[in-house]
Amino acid sequence: MTIQPRVSATTNLVDRPRLGTLERSASNVADAVAKRIRGTKWAVAESGYRQLIEALGVAVYTTDPDGRITFFNDAAAAFWGRRPELGELWCGSYLLFWPDGRQMGHAECPMAIALLEGRELRGVEAIAERPDGSRVSFSPYPTVLRDPDGTVVGAVNVLVDISDRKRAEDEVRATAEALRASNAVKDEFLGLVSHELRTPVTTIFGNARLLRDKGDRLAAEDRETMIADVAGEAERLLGVIENLLLLTRLESGIHPDPEPQVLAHVARLVVGSFGRRHPGRTVELTSEPRHVIVEADRPYLDLIFENMLGNAVKYSPAETPIEVVVQATDSEGQVLVLDRGIGLHDAEIERLFEAFYRADMARGTSAGLGIGLAACRRVVESLGGRIWAASREGGGSEFGFALPLA
Ligand code: ADP
Repeated sequence: MTIQPRVSATTNLVDRPRLGTLERSASNVADAVAKRIRGTKWAVAESGYRQLIEALGVAVYTTDPDGRITFFNDAAAAFWGRRPELGELWCGSYLLFWPDGRQMGHAECPMAIALLEGRELRGVEAIAERPDGSRVSFSPYPTVLRDPDGTVVGAVNVLVDISDRKRAEDEVRATAEALRASNAVKDEFLGLVSHELRTPVTTIFGNARLLRDKGDRLAAEDRETMIADVAGEAERLLGVIENLLLLTRLESGIHPDPEPQVLAHVARLVVGSFGRRHPGRTVELTSEPRHVIVEADRPYLDLIFENMLGNAVKYSPAETPIEVVVQATDSEGQVLVLDRGIGLHDAEIERLFEAFYRADMARGTSAGLGIGLAACRRVVESLGGRIWAASREGGGSEFGFALPLA
């Protein structure tokens, strides 16, 4: 026999293109039962087949030509979660639903359609809800029974639990969805990174070419500006690459290698180097007490300072000072980087430490990838410390981190 879905469009049932092994055997059971009893004024309850059907372990029930239940086996009662009265109409399910979640009236259930339209039905899926609220996805195999004259004498239905298959399908769908989402994130990431890398490289490349080809004809002042731009953009590029490297390194489980560091000493070196690279900016360092020693990995400490100082420069006007404060409590050494720039909205402060998050105000002020603070947070937390941001009274921002004293 053919087991292609033969569901008419008017019945609005869900067609399935292929039947699995389980469904094929259920279809065969329905056919075999139908063949055996075709042509007899048959009631399973009275027949010798009752034992056979009970032994099947598959939910099977029969109805008379009007759809009134004449017999059901124990597997059907377990499937429905109830024992319907003989004579109930169409099927013994408590509630029925279509696969899309809409409720299905009993009179439009597959068994009803099979009887009303006088044909067998295959390739349909539905959901039955038991009185205890549990649900089971199933495929019904209703087959109309006729006597030798072709008169409908009843119908037999086999109900196959396909919950496991549905669950597996849902999992496959969820995995595909997660893959699609992670691909979208990857594309967005690559777009952002390419943009962030291309901008400085374009300046470096353009200026270097001009200096090479026409350097001797340029005014000394223009030459200086172009060289400063090359240095500035190269520094930005390096910053982006270091942050990315650090994020991937920490992500893959490689952790910093801490040693005792004199915080004020590191701060002095970093601020000195930063000041030389940003001659237009004033960076004031205050460190009290002088010998605050923390456990930290030096390159990572530099990276945190560089990110916080770089941001203070990016997000505050050139004429305003930047302050770096090194201080200590009984248990931790702290560094604060203070500026008088665009400041922060309290509601977004936590998000600033998420990778790729940038405040609207920052987007309008300067280019950026939004990974510097995320990298800082990873490093600080891997060293057992904490990191924070706050708005400053009088305008501007405070970014700070604290590490346990050595
Ligand atoms: P980026 O500067 O590349 O955007 P960061 O991770 O360093 O990335 O910073 C994340 C966000 O935190 C910035 O986009 C900005 O919104 C905010 N931010 C960081 N530093 C400051 C600052 N000094 N003043 C105001 N906002 C800041």
